[in-house]
Amino acid sequence: MDDRLFRNAMGKFATGVTVITTKADDVVHGMTANAFMSVSLEPKLVVISIGHKARMLDKITTSKRFVVNILSNEQKDLSMHFAGQVKEDLLVEFETINNMPAIKDSLANIVCNVKASYVEGDHTLFIGEVTDLLLNDGEPLTYFEGKYGKLI
Ligand code: FAD
Repeated sequence: MDDRLFRNAMGKFATGVTVITTKADDVVHGMTANAFMSVSLEPKLVVISIGHKARMLDKITTSKRFVVNILSNEQKDLSMHFAGQVKEDLLVEFETINNMPAIKDSLANIVCNVKASYVEGDHTLFIGEVTDLLLNDGEPLTYFEGKYGKLI
């Protein structure tokens, strides 16, 4: 099957946008991701999918913890920055939740311990057990057919 056809089909699924953050060996790292979903209520589990070329893979493998920061429609610049889509450097201020770096003013900061990981094809799925949650009001940043958008 053609890669472009597969990508185009997946792009028909409208999603929110997150930045995954972690801290490994005292170095904070962030990466934009939309492969995220809730898995279980009891226990409280989520899943993220990290490509094998992403530096984030080693970081989470080392730290065994990550934060899913769900972005608001005012944080498109952060999404582009953490996807490496812009050249200019952005000074990002992180806040700390339970000793983990989180993106300020996100709609939600979901702090997780890695419970399991599964290598599937060219990605690794990390199952995270949620330890801390912080919520803020706002509207979501969206992603559809490779383009950012807003609900309203
Ligand atoms: P790098 O490419 O090295 O870093 C990414 C960017 O973040 C760089 O600009 C870097 O300077 C900056 N950065 C990192 N840490 C910090 C810090 N502490 N302070 C300031 N800046 C910092 N890929 C996936 O694997 N899974 C997905 O689900 C996924 N979803 C995506 C959804 C969208 C909407 C987009 C646009 C991209 C998505 N990607 C996804 C691709 C992924 O975001 C990029 O490939 C990314 O560049 C990989 O990051 P990296 O860990 O290799 O780190």
